[in-house]
Amino acid sequence: MISFSLNYFEAPSYAIAVLSADVNLAALDLPPFRAILLTGLFQSYSGAENTYQMSEIYDLIVIGGGSAGLVAAGGAATLGAKVALIEKNALGGDCLYTGCVPSKTIIESARFAHRARKAGKYGFQELEPKFLDDSFASITNRVQNVIEIIEHHDAPEVFEEMGVKVIFGTTKFLNPNEIEVSLKNSGAKRVMRAKRFCISTGSSPFVPPIEGLQETGFITNEDFSF
Ligand SMILES: Cc1cc2nc3c(=O)[nH]c(=O)nc-3n(C[C@H](O)[C@H](O)[C@H](O)COP(=O)(O)OP(=O)(O)OC[C@H]3O[C@@H](n4cnc5c(N)ncnc54)[C@H](O)[C@@H]3O)c2cc1C
Repeated sequence: MISFSLNYFEAPSYAIAVLSADVNLAALDLPPFRAILLTGLFQSYSGAENTYQMSEIYDLIVIGGGSAGLVAAGGAATLGAKVALIEKNALGGDCLYTGCVPSKTIIESARFAHRARKAGKYGFQELEPKFLDDSFASITNRVQNVIEIIEHHDAPEVFEEMGVKVIFGTTKFLNPNEIEVSLKNSGAKRVMRAKRFCISTGSSPFVPPIEGLQETGFITNEDFSF
């Protein structure tokens, strides 16, 4: 007797269909056995806004496009690996938007003001610098301008040119070799596979447990964004 059954093993991103066949070959004096035919992976669909595309397989998927992720992705692609880079916001990360670049730009303005006040030391008349339009926005605008000058070096096209597939979205692991990416622009979901992953998702400010701090209020480098 031969009977077939179709089983689906539902995983978050895909279903595996297994076609089982119970085969009783008593008539042939052979023990019964169960043949399992893996009919293959196929994608499950749950509406247009939540559509899984076909799995894509990479040598390396880098998660996070800050300084570390950009170097890892660009370096690996340059060495010939098939690389994808997933970033949830914008390429450049902390350094470009909330770290090195804004802080060094503000420090440079502060240094200029300091030297203007101490100009006598250098043989010039001392002066008290005033913000343009009497507003600190003159400094933050300058920070924004500097970011805009630098950010084209971290533009997606630069990394695509190196052979990196750049994707904007958030990720979650489905298993050791697969992630699900929720695309930033559409919300659609995409399953991607890789032999290796580089998790370079950076850090966030630690707020120390100092008594009264919450009541007093504070800002971090992330609040002080432009
Ligand atoms: C105020 C300040 C000044 C600094 N000044 C300097 C300096 O002068 N020189 C210097 O060398 N270093 C400086 N640093 C340190 C430097 O900014 C960090 O070392 C560097 O940015 C770390 O890079 P990263 O790639 O590890 O992380 P990040 O730059 O934080 O990048 C992580 C990226 O991962 C993305 N991400 C997070 N979670 C996910 C997810 N689930 N899916 C997809 N993407 C995700 C984030 O959006 C981000 O783009 C400074 C830092 C600060 C805070």
